[in-house]
Amino acid sequence: MDVTSDRSSPRNRTREEIFRVMQGGGALTRARLVEATGLSRSTVNHAVTRLIAEGRVTEGDPAVKGPGSGSGRPAGVLRCVPRRTNSAALDFGHTHVKAAVVDGSGHMIAQRRADLDVDHGAADAMDAAADMLGALRRDHDVDALSTVVVGIPGPLDSASGLVRSPTILSSWVGLDPRRELEHRLGLRVHVENDAVLGAYGELRRGAGQGYTDFLYVKVSHGIGAGMVLGGEPYRGSLGFAGEIGHTPLPGYTELCRCGRRGCLEAVVSVSSVMAQVAHTHPGLGPGASPLEQPDDPTTRRILNDAGRMLGGVLSVLSNLLNPAALIIGGELGATGGPLLEGVASAVRRDAQPAIAASLDIVPAQLGENAELVGAAALAGTMALRPGGAVRGRGGGATPGRAV
Ligand SMILES: [Zn+2]
Repeated sequence: MDVTSDRSSPRNRTREEIFRVMQGGGALTRARLVEATGLSRSTVNHAVTRLIAEGRVTEGDPAVKGPGSGSGRPAGVLRCVPRRTNSAALDFGHTHVKAAVVDGSGHMIAQRRADLDVDHGAADAMDAAADMLGALRRDHDVDALSTVVVGIPGPLDSASGLVRSPTILSSWVGLDPRRELEHRLGLRVHVENDAVLGAYGELRRGAGQGYTDFLYVKVSHGIGAGMVLGGEPYRGSLGFAGEIGHTPLPGYTELCRCGRRGCLEAVVSVSSVMAQVAHTHPGLGPGASPLEQPDDPTTRRILNDAGRMLGGVLSVLSNLLNPAALIIGGELGATGGPLLEGVASAVRRDAQPAIAASLDIVPAQLGENAELVGAAALAGTMALRPGGAVRGRGGGATPGRAV
């Protein structure tokens, strides 16, 4: 039903005014609406009947009639029906861009992916994302979009909205991705760190369902953690919480893209593990992924060692936060067994025994799509709220930081 048509007549303007009062006032009865608007009972009744017929308002659960309430219509409680609109999700990885159009429930209608050097080509990556979203909208006949939720793989200052750290996302530093993308898309944009979105995806649709406190760790070309504490994503005072990839590992000297040596992600990332596997399998041709040989004993040992190093860092975090689960995702997380066994053995060795004993160490369920699924779920949630405002911990960057 087209509820936007013909709202200019006096009667319709009155109805819209009543609807706005209801949007601002939570659950109301007809009697309260009469009081709140100063309009006559018959005007309010007429408008409410039309709003119910339009599907914008429901009336239910008549309140128990108390003494003196008369014999008239029961005091039904009126509620606005959340308006479900389509939205969109974008996920920038270090080497890919994904785009999706999203339905009113936060589920993806369709998605696309392109492989790109996102780290060194911010403008090109954002242009590509805008083109992909445009193509998706045309192909799937998705016209109006309420909001676009975007994940980026680097530190985002929640106060300024600017990307920080000159060495991690070099071409993005000082950029305001929200403003850049709003300019390209002509739509309202909300930007998050990608690990936060991965954690939110697992919380809403994956392995995090049923947990209120967990760490989601994306082990890919970089390593980042997204935290869910008390059922909500936790971002820290400026939005940088979970940047564990550049934790120094004592005794390691591998050069990291941040310019320092021995960082966790220089030792454990996909590229580092693939280089180790290729080094021990000189017979594999160029382009072959050694990670596609999960049963090979040497590959298993390399993955297990990587898991132990990751688990050492996660043990410290577990002692600090006492999460119920570690959810391991990203491309290396998807390799499963040996990596997770390595994490578990390090946790058993390094974490407090009571903490280790109660900790589930599980693979992410959404695989490489966790960030995009999380962006879609958040976009669906934002689309339900007037103005798209979001609430929770964090605070800061517009149009609201938290989930
Ligand atoms: Zn580093």
